Amino acid sequence: MSKAEEKITVDDLIEKVSSYIEDKEQIDTIVKAYNFAKEKHKGQYRKSGEPYINHVMSVTMILISVYADYETIVAGLLHDIVSEAGVDISEVEEKFGSNIAKLVRGVTQLSKIHFSTENEYLIDYYKKIIVGMTEDVRVIIIKLADRLHNMRTLWAMPEDRQKVKAHEALEILAPIAHHLGIHKIKSELEDLSLRYLKPDVFYDIVEKLNKTKIERDKAVYDMEQEVTNLLNEHHIPHEIKGRAKSIYSIYNKLDKGKKFSDIYDLLALRILVNTEQECYLALGLIHSKFRPLPNRFKDYVAMPKANMYQSLHTTVFGIDGYLFEIQIRTYEMDEVAENGIASHWAYKENGGSNFAANFQSSTEQKLQLFKSIIDLSQDKLSSEEFVTGVQEEVLDDNIYCFTPKGDVIELPKGATPLDFAYKIHTKVGETTVGAIVNNNIVPLNHELQNNDIVKINTNKNSTPSKEWLNMVKAATTRNKIKSFFTKNDREIYVERGKYALEKELRKRKIAFNDFINDENIKIICEEIKVDDLEEIYLSIGNGKATVNGVINIIEKPEDIPTPKNIKITSKNTDADIIVSGIDKVKVNLANCCNPVYGDEIVGYITKGNGITVHRINCHNLDVLEDRTLEVSWNNNANKRYMTSLLIYANDSENHMLDLVQSVSTMNVSVDGVKTINRGDKAIYEINCYVTGLEQLNKLILAINKHNYIEKVERAMK
Ligand code: MN
Repeated sequence: MSKAEEKITVDDLIEKVSSYIEDKEQIDTIVKAYNFAKEKHKGQYRKSGEPYINHVMSVTMILISVYADYETIVAGLLHDIVSEAGVDISEVEEKFGSNIAKLVRGVTQLSKIHFSTENEYLIDYYKKIIVGMTEDVRVIIIKLADRLHNMRTLWAMPEDRQKVKAHEALEILAPIAHHLGIHKIKSELEDLSLRYLKPDVFYDIVEKLNKTKIERDKAVYDMEQEVTNLLNEHHIPHEIKGRAKSIYSIYNKLDKGKKFSDIYDLLALRILVNTEQECYLALGLIHSKFRPLPNRFKDYVAMPKANMYQSLHTTVFGIDGYLFEIQIRTYEMDEVAENGIASHWAYKENGGSNFAANFQSSTEQKLQLFKSIIDLSQDKLSSEEFVTGVQEEVLDDNIYCFTPKGDVIELPKGATPLDFAYKIHTKVGETTVGAIVNNNIVPLNHELQNNDIVKINTNKNSTPSKEWLNMVKAATTRNKIKSFFTKNDREIYVERGKYALEKELRKRKIAFNDFINDENIKIICEEIKVDDLEEIYLSIGNGKATVNGVINIIEKPEDIPTPKNIKITSKNTDADIIVSGIDKVKVNLANCCNPVYGDEIVGYITKGNGITVHRINCHNLDVLEDRTLEVSWNNNANKRYMTSLLIYANDSENHMLDLVQSVSTMNVSVDGVKTINRGDKAIYEINCYVTGLEQLNKLILAINKHNYIEKVERAMK
């Protein structure tokens, strides 16, 4: 953090931006945004002690350095105005129009995400979320600039936060910058991350670079002269830049086992020429004078990288036997390489076009972006789900509408206010009486357009009409309306409950008629607070009660044969489980009921595979067979246990992000999430690692707090 950067004035900003934006009106809007932000952030300070506006100005300067267009710059100035200064987004829209408001809204939404880098799955997942949530790639660029400045001022944070933030920057944000081809931001994010994650390595490299600097500088200078003379002799106009390798890229090579002295492309030159043809001419001349290293030549001009990077790369034996990595590219290719997608603004605007025209639609932007992400992560074998999910999102023809509060609602093209209402919540849909779109009253079959702001009027006594089936577009809406009219829902549940009970009783070898007698029915009704047998079935059928829970009211769990009473004779303190009377025995945790530390457990002697530990109420235990034995948890056990939760939502919205967030904020690591059933009500299965029952119960409680949750249960297979 240079001192100069801390005091960026609006004049500095305008001077810099004027190098590529000439429109007077646009410059005026930038100044207006500056004044607005300054006013609203007045009295706010950063952890570093600086006035808040300094952060905002630094972020904006970063955006200007990658040639962001004026809307992005204005949104950069306003990027924290909603989340940090409490300004309403409608005020932004009023003052700066809907385009800029949309960008600010996007950045505000992104800043709400709590990232986690605990495992690969989550990293990929968050990358997808960031891209998937974002309507406009410019939002991501603002986010990257924001994060870059936060990384520059990371010293002001406590040490544990530094590591977390550095990890996020390295694992999630730098790769996104790379996908977007914004090398400038990517490389600084990486270097800053390394500085906080591995300070000793970082400073060691810095020191080594400093030590060899004079020697390297001289070699580079001499080589530059040689190459310049060569190109001048052949009348190729050019510029040569000595090129600093990023510290992170050196670290990467050292990490792969190279010695510092062996990193031969420490010496690097970049040659900029006017045309593609001159790139190849220059290459030919250089190879004719300096012997190229075999297998180091790469032609990214003819075959650009997925993020649009173009350049010729070669490594040659230069003067005094030094190896030089040389990049040859045109000025335009260089802009793209440094500033990525952002540089298109600068170039296309000069050509009279603009960003919006360059990317016909947000769909096209996304497609481009997703393509590069998928291309680049191929070797990491990103989950198939990721790829298909992305394709669906991109290829589906969707529109995006807003609630009056600014929440984005994704709908299929041709959707009506009814689709919108049901998408918010089934209850809202069912009680809809009217709709207001962009301040005009419209009929319920009105076709919504992209970016409409939709307000739904409801009346709690109102119910759906059959007519509605012809007024909606989304299949899910139609199903929801239909299911309202399916009066036999109750019957289905009762049937289902009865069937489940019969099946379980059969499994436990209990006669159905013995079990279902008047006395038992009375006890069960009292216990689960229902009125009659039909309601017992209903409770089981709709999941309010579990079938085992109901049976256990009568057939008490103690009925499981009590294990033989053997004194514990030894303790293997390394093991998680202590098996009575037996010292060295193979013990596995059953993966049907996934017991965790603290659960009531029982051991089951398997044929030839030691002892499998189940939860005491696991329905896979064949209690009639006397093969169980007493086991207990070792109190010294200190590990995490994999377990699996089934989470039933009461609607069909996608709550995955929210759920993963809740889980990860509780310091529980997630191994996988999947949606099991996507009908009217979504069911999620989360596999996670917990320290024990105590943490698991807390987690279940936390998940239950969301109002879209119907119930949470531990999975039993
Ligand atoms: Mn910020």
